[in-house]
Amino acid sequence: MITAEDKLALTELLLSSVDASVCAQKGLQWLGSQVLSRRALLATAAADPGRLWGIAALGISPARTGEFVLDLDDRRDPLVAATWSGRPAHFRPGPRQPETPLESVPFYAVPLRPDRKMPPLGVLLFESDEPDIDADVLWFAEILGEKFQALRLRNVTADPGVDRERHLLYSIINAVTDPILLTDDSGKLIIGNLRAEQLFAIRPEESEGRRRAVELNNLFFSSALAGRMVEENLPGAREVILVDPEDGSDLMYELLTSRMAIDRDLSAVVSVLRNVTDLGRARQELEDNYRRLMEAEVQMRTERNRLDLLVDSVGDPIIVTDPAGDILMTNAPAEKYFTAHDGSDKDTLRRVQANVAQFSSFVSGLMLQAGLSGGQQRWRERLIVTEPGTGRAVPMEAFAGSMMAGTSELTGVVTVLHDQTETIERERLYAELQQASAQLELRVREATAELAHQNELLRRQALALEQASAAKSQFLANVSHEFRTPLNAILGYSLMLMGGFYGQLSEEQSRTVQRIDANSKHLATLINDVLDIERIEAGRMPLQISQFPVQDVVREVLEELQGVIAQSSATVNVALPAALPRLKSDRQKLKQILVNLLSNALKYTKDGTVDIFARHELSTGRMALTVRDSGVGIAPEDHVRIFEPFQQAKRVITRPQGGTGLGLAISRRLARMLGGDIGVESQLGEGSTFTVTIPVRTRTRTAQYRTESDRRQQSA
Ligand code: ADP
Repeated sequence: MITAEDKLALTELLLSSVDASVCAQKGLQWLGSQVLSRRALLATAAADPGRLWGIAALGISPARTGEFVLDLDDRRDPLVAATWSGRPAHFRPGPRQPETPLESVPFYAVPLRPDRKMPPLGVLLFESDEPDIDADVLWFAEILGEKFQALRLRNVTADPGVDRERHLLYSIINAVTDPILLTDDSGKLIIGNLRAEQLFAIRPEESEGRRRAVELNNLFFSSALAGRMVEENLPGAREVILVDPEDGSDLMYELLTSRMAIDRDLSAVVSVLRNVTDLGRARQELEDNYRRLMEAEVQMRTERNRLDLLVDSVGDPIIVTDPAGDILMTNAPAEKYFTAHDGSDKDTLRRVQANVAQFSSFVSGLMLQAGLSGGQQRWRERLIVTEPGTGRAVPMEAFAGSMMAGTSELTGVVTVLHDQTETIERERLYAELQQASAQLELRVREATAELAHQNELLRRQALALEQASAAKSQFLANVSHEFRTPLNAILGYSLMLMGGFYGQLSEEQSRTVQRIDANSKHLATLINDVLDIERIEAGRMPLQISQFPVQDVVREVLEELQGVIAQSSATVNVALPAALPRLKSDRQKLKQILVNLLSNALKYTKDGTVDIFARHELSTGRMALTVRDSGVGIAPEDHVRIFEPFQQAKRVITRPQGGTGLGLAISRRLARMLGGDIGVESQLGEGSTFTVTIPVRTRTRTAQYRTESDRRQQSA
């Protein structure tokens, strides 16, 4: 509800002014602040009674307002009819709604016609969807109508053309499709034509996207304008890129500005934006095309350079000819054969010419072939050219390929020549090498045959030897056996003689009988040893495997040789570790080996020491038993011989009495039966160390001693 005070305020406002448009403007502002309405427009006929011009508005741009005109003579127009009627009329959106800057919203048209005898002075268009018009609005129309009436009576001299001109001006600037704007010094829009409003003015009902575009445009424009002001004195235009709020596309404008004075101390800027979007696009396209052209050219040039580099860096001659065989281009190596230099002698010149002629007939020959089969071709041929300087014939391999323009047109032939001299030379050398290698192979084959022959001879000799050795063993065994019976008789009789069975012997007789006894015993030992060897060799010596501590065996050995040890001047030391594993082996045979080694040590050691010790080798699962003496020692060259039957060391310092030369031979054979062996380390005069190594656990099968002939038979 509008109070009396508010109404008084309006009345005062109107009284203070004598200008119709000022009254209209102020009045509408007052109405807008009192009554809720988004849009309103006031059209008056202040100067020209036949027409009503848009003079002031609320929520409508000045450009649209200024463009609005209502011809009072056109009574068929519903709005004109309503105005003449002097009563408010309500218009709703639809086909029959008159066209106004309010656009399609429901509105009231309230005529300003204080004097019914006179034509209407104006009309107030007022957005409202209410069924009844607000009484305050009616009051406002009435008081404003009276004010206009009063002004009309006073301003009889007022120029009736002003409003028309203003309308004309608005029509002109609105007809321009480029935006035209008037801004104040701070860049704020004072007035603009329709296009300017589309780009820069935000209308309340606008979508978010459009609003954003308009905001951006204002930003771009004011910065361009500011820039333009700075460089005011510079000629030429400045480019501005704006956004079309309709479709979001870029619009390119050229900004032209000029400054004008409004008042004495107030100036404004008129800006005209010229649309150069299409121009810009064309220019951009032109630039793009130019850039692409330049790029293509650069690429082509690099490619060409690369190709030149490639062609020049090839060591083989390259020749490009036209289809007729005329040379178009050569690389440096080809020049040597196909280009004559100034000052070349006659022969050189002649040879170059011959090469050129020969080459072009070669190419035309190829073309003839190509003509028969058609399409792109490659060839590989042999060709002989002459070295111009020396006249040497150079065999060449020519790789030629046709160059095509498109798919059918032959434009030339590229030929690469490859010098075959070296290849041919290599082939010759290779043939020679092959021949030499064949000869060598033949010789090797002959030598191999000879070797095989020799081997066969050796094998036969070995066989014969073995047979002889077997015969010898057999003979010895037989003889020994035959010896044993009479020998036992001799020993028996000599024992009886010594025992006084045949009467008391004289001292000399007794000594003789003792000698007979000693020699017979020696002979018996010898025969036993020979029989032992024979049994081992014949495989008639069985193994008897049992478990026993090694210490026990050593003790038994010492007991058996007790008498010899007592008589010897050497000292015997035994050092066996407490934690030795029990042996699983043939106890009797191990004992026999140790007895032999110890008695040898005692035999060959005077006033020295004999050490017995043992070592368990965990990694190999073997036991090593060592007898070391400080006696006479054995020369290295005798180390092999002493293990052979009836062999004794050749280089000896002093040889003691007795000994059959079979002890070590038997011992080694026994050790091998147990899966082990005997080794010796010794130097003449520096004592000897004999070590028997056997497995802690002898496996019956592998331990069987194999004779040399067995082994050979197996390997054969
Ligand atoms: P022999 O009955 O002659 O001792 P062996 O076969 O037992 O026969 O020994 C062969 C030879 O090896 C011996 O004649 C001797 O020259 C040499 N020989 C063996 N044991 C020793 C030793 N401990 N020191 C020096 N020489 C040895």
